[in-house]
Amino acid sequence: MKTVGIIGGGQLGLMIAQQARLLGVRTIALDPAADAPAFAVADERIVAAYDDSAALEELCRRSDAVTYEFENVPGRVLIPLCRRYNIPQGFRPLYDSQDRLREKENARANGFFTPEYAAVDDERSLRATVERIALPAVLKTRTLGYDGHGQQVLRTEADIERALPLLAVPCILEEFIAFDYEVSLVMVADGERVVTFPVGRNVHRDGILDLCFLPAGMEDGVLARLRQVGERFMAQCGYRGILAVEVFVRGDRFWFNEMAPRPHNSGHWTIEGATTNQFRELVRFLVGEPLEEPQIVAPTVMKNILGQDLAEAEKIAAERRPNVHVHLYGKSESRPKRKMGHITFVGMTPEEYARDWAARFV
Ligand code: AMP
Repeated sequence: MKTVGIIGGGQLGLMIAQQARLLGVRTIALDPAADAPAFAVADERIVAAYDDSAALEELCRRSDAVTYEFENVPGRVLIPLCRRYNIPQGFRPLYDSQDRLREKENARANGFFTPEYAAVDDERSLRATVERIALPAVLKTRTLGYDGHGQQVLRTEADIERALPLLAVPCILEEFIAFDYEVSLVMVADGERVVTFPVGRNVHRDGILDLCFLPAGMEDGVLARLRQVGERFMAQCGYRGILAVEVFVRGDRFWFNEMAPRPHNSGHWTIEGATTNQFRELVRFLVGEPLEEPQIVAPTVMKNILGQDLAEAEKIAAERRPNVHVHLYGKSESRPKRKMGHITFVGMTPEEYARDWAARFV
């Protein structure tokens, strides 16, 4: 029996461990919190910080292959381990995604369009860049941003003044794309082939993913082009394992926004809404099994459950309705805006969701 080590024990680690178990693969998760969600399912646990090299080494020693669900594992810790242990995704896709400037340069160099951007470090470079790419624009910290944290949309002079404190750390200023909608491309590559999950449309609220609708309703030609650009990107970058790319779409154009070399919130719907799911294909890749091409089962809606929706989600779970799949991550503390679970509605259209379900959530 093979063992997969997971750096990070949040909900992504939990769902990797669940799918691994269904495939007969053991898991060990490492997380600093003794009550991390993945520990409820993983076969073994290591409670330690993400930069504790001795603990990470222990994880690697006990695993046949190691993956990460946490994006900010430092290179100084991971790179030496990649040399000595089987970490099939390597450090490279993490490195490429840990800094928004590097991330966009890499995306452009490998075939994606991106919004215009430039590094800005102080008020002078910010104002010079605003001159060049014009307002509206989006100012983001280069590292450690997530779910809309560490970013500000600039529309007016007053917004520029208000945004100055962000410049305490290195930032990037991006052209604001007035997109029609956002989608994500979740791909798994094994060095020979790339499988791509059906593309869903993402709806954010307050910078956090709220809903995914499948299919995305993209025009066939644009969808085919996006998949082709994505697959070529994986191949040219030499990435193996899983990668999620968030994309803005307007008309027949699309722009790379950001990427993550781990399962993605916008791919949770695949557990019930597709013939194989993002966690399962990641595990199959890690243990050297051939990848399976995913197919959509039926139109699907995924609703994220944040702290403020938890009580309603528990009620829905108790109703035990067919094709309504409630996932609660078992986090010990519920807070507004904290991701506590998700619900997947299989066989549902956006219109049906709006009519029958939307009003149940705040
Ligand atoms: P990010 O953290 O980069 O994924 O940004 C969070 C959300 O902010 C995105 O999902 C978009 O809805 C919005 N956003 C980020 N960058 C831009 C941009 N350049 N133009 C328009 N909207 C953006």
